[in-house]
Amino acid sequence: MAEVIYPKMAVIGCGLIGSSVIHAARAASVVGQVAVADASPEHRERIKAIGFADVVTADIAEAVKDADLIVFAVPVLAMGEAARAAAPAVKPGATVTDVGSVKAAVAEALVAALPDTVYIVPGHPIAGTEYSGPDAGFAALFQKRWTILTPLPREDDPYLEAVQRLADFWTALGANVERMDDKHHDLVLAVTSHLPHLIAYNIVGTAADLEEVTQAEVMKYSAGGFRDFTRIAASDPTMWRDIFVANKDAVLEILGRFTEDLQALSRAIRWGEADKLYELFTRTREIRRGVIAAGQESAEPNFGRDRAKS
Ligand code: NAP
Repeated sequence: MAEVIYPKMAVIGCGLIGSSVIHAARAASVVGQVAVADASPEHRERIKAIGFADVVTADIAEAVKDADLIVFAVPVLAMGEAARAAAPAVKPGATVTDVGSVKAAVAEALVAALPDTVYIVPGHPIAGTEYSGPDAGFAALFQKRWTILTPLPREDDPYLEAVQRLADFWTALGANVERMDDKHHDLVLAVTSHLPHLIAYNIVGTAADLEEVTQAEVMKYSAGGFRDFTRIAASDPTMWRDIFVANKDAVLEILGRFTEDLQALSRAIRWGEADKLYELFTRTREIRRGVIAAGQESAEPNFGRDRAKS
């Protein structure tokens, strides 16, 4: 039996990720009491019915009272408001983390909202599916996936101990834990996740707006490539709106590079530069092999679900 790391955990926002954290933490026996605050009355009813929390409330201050670990799992732009609601009730010495897909903006919002008596350790589990809400969560979501922690620039021992305790928590949930500077996280994720989602949203939108091709034809002849884009473009609109607003600088930087490369490809196609195309497609095939070798291929480990990481 694993040791309890946090006697009381509060999860603010209990959708796919929040509920998965609870399932996984319960399965690993690393938390005692679990309190949940969620803004959605329907979700609160579902959470009560599923029965994985000891306290279910709309009141964030009530949920975080006496909590040793507070996990903000709301959309990125809602983090600041949720943290402000928690601030008067947080216990000194508590660890406060989040699971948001953007880190620098969230760190700034948490630091601005919370007293300096708590240890703020932002985090991001690189695991997910295109489903939302408390019914979508499952304990194995984080298994063998990376969780990136982006600690604040603090070197005092109590803070470093809090970071280590949170790393131990994620390890117990089955994740591989990495520490990273928050701005670097945002740039890496802009390449690996945010831009691919933007491309998917854009290509599906372009196909939907084409006048020469009917929507029925798009669906009927949806070959592998487009079908995969539609899966990614079905990801939660609120979550992704927030990601692009909060990670504006990194996304625009990567988008600039991408646009230049696309122009070069367009020129190669126009001038029939077959060698250039072949050279690129050969190089990208190697990257795909590297992704599989790193164990991060999307369909594995699958646990019976598709996953669209963010
Ligand atoms: P989700 O399934 O939509 O769950 C979010 C929950 O929080 C919903 O129940 C929502 O209620 C509630 N909520 C929204 N604003 C709130 C507030 N101010 N106070 C209290 N509750 C609030 O979302 P999710 O997919 O779990 O994503 C949560 C966070 O994880 C996001 O920051 C996202 O960037 C990050 N993340 C997501 C994934 C992924 O693949 N989904 C992966 C890694 C990280 P309503 O539905 O009524 O708004």
